[in-house]
Amino acid sequence: MENTVKVLLPLPLGDAYDYRVPEGMAVVPGHFVIVPLGKRETVGVVWGTGTGDVAPEKLRDVIAVLPALPMADAMRRFVDWVSAYTLMPAGAVLRMAMSVPSALEAPKTELVYRPAAPTEDTALKLTAARRRVLEQLKDGPAMAAAELAHLAGVGTSVVKSMASVGLLVAEERIVRRSFPQPDGLHDGPTLSAAQKIAADSLVEKVKAHAFSATLLDGVPGAGKTEVYFEAVAACLAAGRQVLVLLPEIALTAQWLRRFEDRFGALPSPWHSGLTSLERRETWRAIAEGRVGVVVGARSALFLPFANLGLIVVDEEHDSSFKQDEGVVYNARDMAVVRARLASAPIVLASATPSLESVVNVKTGRYGEVHLPGRHGGHRLATLSAIDLRREAPSRGRWLSPPVVEAMKKTLAAGEQTLLYLNRRGYAPITLCRACGSGLECPQCSAWLVEHRFRRTLVCHHCGYTEPPAQTCRHCGAVDQFVACGPGVERLAEEALELFPEARLELFTSDSLMNRDEASAAVERMEKGEIDILIGTQMAAKGHHFPNLTLVAVIDADLGLNGGDLRAAERTFQLLYQVAGRAGRDGRPGRALIQTHNPDHPVMQALVSGDRDRFVEVELHDRSLAGMPPYGRLASLIISGPDPVAVDNVCAALARQAPQQEGVTILGPSVAPLALLRGRHRRRFLLKAGRETAVQPLLHAWLEKIGLPGSVRLQVDVDPYSFL
Ligand SMILES: [Zn+2]
Ligand SMILES: [Zn+2]
Repeated sequence: MENTVKVLLPLPLGDAYDYRVPEGMAVVPGHFVIVPLGKRETVGVVWGTGTGDVAPEKLRDVIAVLPALPMADAMRRFVDWVSAYTLMPAGAVLRMAMSVPSALEAPKTELVYRPAAPTEDTALKLTAARRRVLEQLKDGPAMAAAELAHLAGVGTSVVKSMASVGLLVAEERIVRRSFPQPDGLHDGPTLSAAQKIAADSLVEKVKAHAFSATLLDGVPGAGKTEVYFEAVAACLAAGRQVLVLLPEIALTAQWLRRFEDRFGALPSPWHSGLTSLERRETWRAIAEGRVGVVVGARSALFLPFANLGLIVVDEEHDSSFKQDEGVVYNARDMAVVRARLASAPIVLASATPSLESVVNVKTGRYGEVHLPGRHGGHRLATLSAIDLRREAPSRGRWLSPPVVEAMKKTLAAGEQTLLYLNRRGYAPITLCRACGSGLECPQCSAWLVEHRFRRTLVCHHCGYTEPPAQTCRHCGAVDQFVACGPGVERLAEEALELFPEARLELFTSDSLMNRDEASAAVERMEKGEIDILIGTQMAAKGHHFPNLTLVAVIDADLGLNGGDLRAAERTFQLLYQVAGRAGRDGRPGRALIQTHNPDHPVMQALVSGDRDRFVEVELHDRSLAGMPPYGRLASLIISGPDPVAVDNVCAALARQAPQQEGVTILGPSVAPLALLRGRHRRRFLLKAGRETAVQPLLHAWLEKIGLPGSVRLQVDVDPYSFL
């Protein structure tokens, strides 16, 4: 019988294919191999022994085995698991685990020199220059010619001639970049009694070297980071690797500095800003176990850890862990799976845990470590709602009289203000005064947002831009456009009119295009060089500003009305975090929340500062409605340029919809974002009980449907977006 293997290719094709292993080639599962695919060659991963369902005359040979370390068994099981859960082809998931193809190639080598064993005529061959060369090599490692020559003060020709006459031996050595080594035994800070108890319990989990999931829950400023750093230290001391997942925008210079202070060296970051060389070197070093701590956004989950001993997901409630394009998955949830497959503990940290995690604690699936109060006796900010129906700003203005008054006092005291509004640009809608029509994106059913500082109109859904219009494309009126509603730029204009002397800055993903600029702004804020910071949700993540004592939430109702399952939860989390920014360094802080709905349960819970009550009320509602975390949801999004073709697919899906007790299929309905990038969109929503496995249902359903080439069907298990 022929020796065949299954090889999975990093392509959205589906399953692994059989290939023949030529005689004399040694192949084990996990090996990266080159195989023929049609007329080209491609790199895949040996996934196991062949299935034997390919006729021998059709079998093609594995061409070569790459010199990279094989993909670990746990990683291969993880790829299969994510694929089965998300209903994405395994190849599409594998692609995320092979994101740096160049790291699989043979690493670069260099020629280095070491002294040869002395012979009888060694002394005869030695000149003064040659002696100096040998002197440099006396106790140290082998060196490249250029370095050696430089140290010895000779030309490289001297080194090379010494090799040719047998005084030196040349050998190939792999060029390896060195990585900072965070030290688990580096002195840590003194922890409060509560922190110590929490840290000890996490350290114990790390020492157990087995899977466990723990929610680390504590108010903003309670010192969660210091606590999970103790678990990181224990893991490093045990010689294992750590992965810290953070929402991309929370990975700031401030976080890195805290890490460096604690461990004496920086962690290795993994994010979109790395160069291809950095990606390759980091990838390899992680696979070889030469990197102790990786901190990154969700894609870091697919890195090839040699010896993973701990995963930390900070800000675990953050919705940016959910990836909505390509392979649709939630990195927080998949991190738990990754930890289980690696037999490692995972810590989920948050001041406002997701309801999913809260319920997992209640049912005993996760452990919980609770950090009461703020570290160092700080109090949470005083929260109050401002009823915009009674204390309205004047027309065309967005700051209510109490907020303006509070800003005056804060400025006079030399303290800082944060104005929070989660709306980029100048105004969310631009209307024509003559005919009342708004400026819409030509490719999406969405308004174009004016960005006045950049002098452009932008679609926030597809990135389409056009110059500000003068003529209305509906009625032809000229110069009749008027901005409606507030964006951060407009708010900045108003604040500057009121406080012309104040030093004011915008903190949004528009005004701060890259990580370095964002870090610089955070630093100016820390140093007190900014009086008024105006920010979108970027400003709500994890920063620590000692002199910030006033936070004003300009439109707390934003996001509450959207037909989104998690709207209230998300609003609560965001506002709670923003309010938590104020008064963190011993000074009392105030948070003023402008709302038209002061009686809404979210506002009530916020103002009372009673997070647990909010959670109870929201969980009760979800449980009555059979919604997550008590029920399961999956979305189907059908899209295409031709609405008729899209509707035909929807009709076919509706006819074949699963009929099962306890399973409800809603739709097809036109998606709220009916047109996106020129594609018409329809949605189905499958709703089922928690005990129902929705994947087999979806499989059976979708199997029956043929898709024309122009129509795309995207499955989203546990959807977060309902647009
Ligand atoms: Zn008009
Ligand atoms: Zn658009």
